[in-house]
Amino acid sequence: MIVFDLCCAAGDHRFEAWFASSDSFADQQARGLIACPVCGDSAIAKAVMAPRVGAKSNQQSGAIAKPAEVSATGEPSPELVRKVIAEIAAKQAEMLPQSRWVGRDFADAARAMHEGRAKEDLIHGQASPEQAAELREDGIAAMPLLVPIAPPDAVN
Ligand SMILES: [Zn+2]
Repeated sequence: MIVFDLCCAAGDHRFEAWFASSDSFADQQARGLIACPVCGDSAIAKAVMAPRVGAKSNQQSGAIAKPAEVSATGEPSPELVRKVIAEIAAKQAEMLPQSRWVGRDFADAARAMHEGRAKEDLIHGQASPEQAAELREDGIAAMPLLVPIAPPDAVN
């Protein structure tokens, strides 16, 4: 293991990270996997190289508390993201049989329900990214379907 003192281009924030080797650092740096823990900038450069392998025992033990792979950006871990998505997909799969397919009328139908012009119902259908954004702006709850469905009118 080797520790590098790194700094970001955006804010010149200094932080340290451990890597398996110098090559491992170069590889992660090239792929933008290293992010500044302060501002999240991924333009990271080596500040001062400080190999501490075999460091003297008077080193503060707190100095090696940083994990080998930098994940101090506050982002949820990929495992957590996968878990949450899987839970949402399962919930949607459960709800789909009760949901009414409205095809391309989805945005209109959702808006009509939101404004009380139509009966509250569970619906699913198609919306363009623009329509989805408009619904979000108007506070109308809609979310992308995470389970594959065959639109009933797609077989025409
Ligand atoms: Zn920074």
